Formats: sequence, structure tokens, C-alpha cells
Amino acid sequence: MILLGSTGSIGVNALQIAAQFHLDVDVLAAGRNITLLNQQIQQHRPRVVVIADEADRHRVAHPNILVGEAGMLDAIEGSDATQVVNAIVGFAGLKPTLKAIACNKAIALANKESLVAGGSFVDTANIQPIDSEHFGLWYLMQPSKPLRKMTITASGGAFRDWPLERLKDASLEDALKHPNWSMGQKITIDSASMMNKLFELLEARWLFGEGEYDAIIETRSLIHALIDFQDGSTTAHMAHASMQLPIAYALCATVDQTILQPVDLVQVGSLEFRAIACDRYPIWQIKEALLKEPERGVIVNAANEAAIEKFVDKKIGFLEISHQVLQAYDTFTTAPKNIDEVFLLDTEVRRYVALL
Ligand code: NAD
Ligand code: MG
Repeated sequence: MILLGSTGSIGVNALQIAAQFHLDVDVLAAGRNITLLNQQIQQHRPRVVVIADEADRHRVAHPNILVGEAGMLDAIEGSDATQVVNAIVGFAGLKPTLKAIACNKAIALANKESLVAGGSFVDTANIQPIDSEHFGLWYLMQPSKPLRKMTITASGGAFRDWPLERLKDASLEDALKHPNWSMGQKITIDSASMMNKLFELLEARWLFGEGEYDAIIETRSLIHALIDFQDGSTTAHMAHASMQLPIAYALCATVDQTILQPVDLVQVGSLEFRAIACDRYPIWQIKEALLKEPERGVIVNAANEAAIEKFVDKKIGFLEISHQVLQAYDTFTTAPKNIDEVFLLDTEVRRYVALL
């Protein structure tokens, strides 16, 4: 496989699954954690390594190093591997996804921003999502019966139990205290604002087609997806909060061995469900509109990335992330007509949000 984003939360889990299933790693691509990358090189012996920054080249213990976005795209094109695992964070993941599709490779896609921003121009035929909710929906759909509604669950993020009036003062450290999952910084902030769940609804829409999609809070993150069938039955996908299960299925044709221990419901005792409220999660206001016009996801994604950058730099407060995204969504009302327009709109929206 080609693993993009190997030193991240998903990347590290993907390499554990690669070791467990004896999968060959042809390319490792990572950002700036060279210490961890060197350990991964030693263990997995890739043919090619890609790093983000030329300045790190001398620190990388490998004879065959490519650099930057161009290096990553060249590595995909030049590899015989049939599978690309895209575990990069943000819009930077879109070009590698498009390149992998152009090279006819199967894609295990953790980078949900590829679909959020470019979904209408991304062929999903060869994409297996690495996301617990989409894995859950896919799992439940196996005996195909007429569906009524697909529901994914949210933990509610770091602020689900905070008094509303304190939200405006929430710091980066506060936002990173996720109740159930250990993940990268950006997705943890997106979980606190509920942006992550909005993205996942779009991701589901592009993966599974038109239909009724919604999300609810399940505070333990043990149920990941539910399907209401026409006949009135509802099924739920339950598993412990670990990405190893979705990763194993995305990487391997058959998974017959134990990946996780089953959930012990008696030990769990009870589960709690809540509606997603717009006062706590202002971004939820545009859920219906965005699902009707999923092509406009690029606007929301670009605004969100630009606003998060300002939040991390302590230039704006936590609630302003959502408010600036909503402002950008109101300002940019067009949908891109082709992939070039996706990239243009992304740049324009970032510029707009940077000046807010
Ligand atoms: P992370 O921040 O932990 O890791 C990101 C990885 O990408 C790192 O290896 C980093 O070095 C690398 N990277 C980032 N920008 C790069 C660039 N321009 N060039 C080369 N490498 C670059 O993030 P994560 O939590 O692993 O999330 C990765 C993606 O998976 C995100 O899109 C996220 O939404 C999605 N996802 C994550 C989880 C999870 O449990 N962490 C679950 C579902 C989906
Ligand atoms: Mg998820």
C-alpha cells in the first residue's frame, strides 16, 4: 500500500493493521514528525518516503525521498501498489485522492475533506471509507432491504455538557478534551463544533447516494450508525470506539479474525441519546440546506479550515469558528461546476475568512 499521513492518528493505526495482516508498505508519506517516521521506516521498509518539508531531508533515514505535494503525487503515480490509504488531514488530501483515482488505485479514505469539498467530482467507485459511522452504515446495509433513513451518531464533543454561556471562552486546550476518542487536533476541534458530523453527513451522501440522512448524539460512542428500514425495523452498529475495525475492513478483502472485543451491554448498563441542538452547535442550522446542495461543501470546508487556523493562533474564540463558517456560507452562494472551480472557490473562501 501507499500510506499518506503515516505519522497521524489514523496512519499509526493503519500501520498496526498492516503489521497484523502482513500488508506490504511501498510508500510512506508524512508531515514533520521525522522521529516517528524514521521508526516506521525501520519497521515497514518502504521503497519510497515522502516528507512535507525540504529542510527535514537530512534527518530522514532513507535513500529514496520525495518532497511536498508534487512528491506525494509522483509517489502515487510511480508506485505499483494497488491501494492508497489517504490519512492526510484537510483539503490537502483532495489532490492525492484525485491522483489515486486517475491511477486506478483502490482508496481507503480517511480524509473526509476530499469528499466534503470535491464530492461531486470524485468517483467513489473505488473508495472504502475509513470512518466509524460510514463503516457502520456499510455493515448494516449488507443484507439489502429497502431503507427509510440512515442515522449516524456523534459523541457531542468536548463541550456537550458545558453551560452554553461558557462556550465563547473555550480555549484550544478545552476543545481538545474529547470525551471518547483520541484523534488528531483538527478533527477533535471539528467534533467539539459538530462540524465533523456535518462533514460526515456529506461524506455519507456522496458514498451512499441520495436518501434521508441525519445524526444524533450517543454519548458513549458505542453505537456508530443506525438504519431505519421501510418495514419499521431499526438496526444499530455497535463496537468499541476504535478505528482499527474500519481500517481493517478498508485494507483487507476479508476480515475473519478478532479486531476488537465485543461490547458488553450489561457492563455498559445504559446508553444516552440526545438531539443535536443549534444553540450549542450553531453550524447545525445549515444541515438541511447543505444536504440539499452538497456541492457547496467546499465553501464550508474552506471557511472551517481558515477559521480553525485563527482559533489555533488565538485570534478568534471557539464560537467564532462556527459563526465565520456560517457567514462564508451566506456570502458564497454558488456551487462549483467542475473540479477547477472547487480549487478556485477554496482559495477565495479562505481569503475571505482570513480578513473577517
Ligand atoms: P492527524 O493530524 O493525527 O494526522 C495527519 C497526518 O497527515 C500526519 O501524519 C501529518 O504529518 C500528515 N500531513 C498533514 N498534512 C500533510 C501534508 N500537507 N503533507 C504530508 N503529510 C501531511 O490527523 P488524523 O486524526 O489522523 O486524521 C486524518 C484524517 O482522517 C482527517 O481527514 C480526519 O478527519 C480523518 N479521520 C480521522 C479519524 C481519527 O480517529 N483520527 C477518524 C475518522 C476520520
Ligand atoms: Mg467519524
